[in-house]
Amino acid sequence: MRRISPTSFRIARRGTTREINRQIALNLIREMQPISRAELARQMGMRRGSVSRLVDELLDGGLVFEGAKAENPRGRKPRLLHIETRGRCIVAVDVSASQTTILVTDLLGHPLLDVIGLAARGRPRLLVDDLARSIDAILAEHPEIGVCQGIGVAVSGLVSLEGGRLRYSPTLGWREVDILEPLRAATGLPVVVENSCKACVLAQVWAVRGDPPVDGPVAFVNVSDGVGVGIAVDGTLLRGAHNVAGEFGHVPLDMDGPRCSCGQRGCWEAYVSKRALIARYRGTDSSWPHAVETTSVTIEQIMARARAGEGQALDALRETGHFLGRGFATITKTVDPRRIYVGGEITGVWDLISTKVEETLRDDAIVGVAGETMILTVPLGEHPRLRGAAALISGPFFAAPVIS
Ligand SMILES: [Zn+2]
Repeated sequence: MRRISPTSFRIARRGTTREINRQIALNLIREMQPISRAELARQMGMRRGSVSRLVDELLDGGLVFEGAKAENPRGRKPRLLHIETRGRCIVAVDVSASQTTILVTDLLGHPLLDVIGLAARGRPRLLVDDLARSIDAILAEHPEIGVCQGIGVAVSGLVSLEGGRLRYSPTLGWREVDILEPLRAATGLPVVVENSCKACVLAQVWAVRGDPPVDGPVAFVNVSDGVGVGIAVDGTLLRGAHNVAGEFGHVPLDMDGPRCSCGQRGCWEAYVSKRALIARYRGTDSSWPHAVETTSVTIEQIMARARAGEGQALDALRETGHFLGRGFATITKTVDPRRIYVGGEITGVWDLISTKVEETLRDDAIVGVAGETMILTVPLGEHPRLRGAAALISGPFFAAPVIS
């Protein structure tokens, strides 16, 4: 049940039913491709002729194509429908504290070229210049990837509800930075800027990794330089009134805890970020900014030492697992997600800490009673933030029309 807003609505027009059914057909083709028109009509419970008219519109719009004929020993061989991924591309950009990366994908978020890394830039203006130059060069060098449909930018930090302005990023140290307009002006392409974890959860909603799509609430937790969370409910991002919803990384576990990158004490991030794990391993103060000082050990080394059986490394990882579970419990009590996806370096040792995470969740008075939440890791190699950036551009092609 959804209430119709008396102040913000869109009246159904003559073509509205057709528009909705066309998007349903498009999504069924995406899920079930290759698929015949007859099978599509059966799936939709519509007459073949009506479905064929919808398919013709999709063919005209270049969103699907008819491929090889299916094998059918008993009669006509139907041509099968596929999503058209040729001739269009998306530029996905991930701006994080340690580096900026670019990935070119097709309309379904599948990579077309290797990931390209740019040096981190302290000043946003320089970063936008670097990005515009690199994107122009990539598109000029690879005419075979087709027409760019837009640039999706995933960035660590708070992004404004309208306009894609980066309001505040504790890990980048930036405030009130406009990325969208300068990048749009420099490239002449549509640009969408979104918080990286909101982008990451969108990529899971659009099932870029082949998991069956899930209805209800889904969360994506990225554990890296900082800790970010994106929530989607029934395929729609949970933004809140100011696009701040989901900032669990800065919800305190302990008001007297270590200082976080945001300046507050005891945030979840201050217990589970990369630098918190490194400080835990070294037995040093995990408070910001001490913890960002160059150290002699990296998270990759700690994970390798744990893998080799070093007790100190295993202890540090398992304690981090405990604090991860504490945060997951908060998320569960807030939105009760069907799935929590986890991204970041820590996924490389998930087998060593998952028991601790689950134990903490089971020990929670409320979550323990509610039952298990499915936790799935998204390995770094899948580039979840870049896939999320691509979903910012690809999602609207497949989304339901906005009505009422
Ligand atoms: Zn914080």
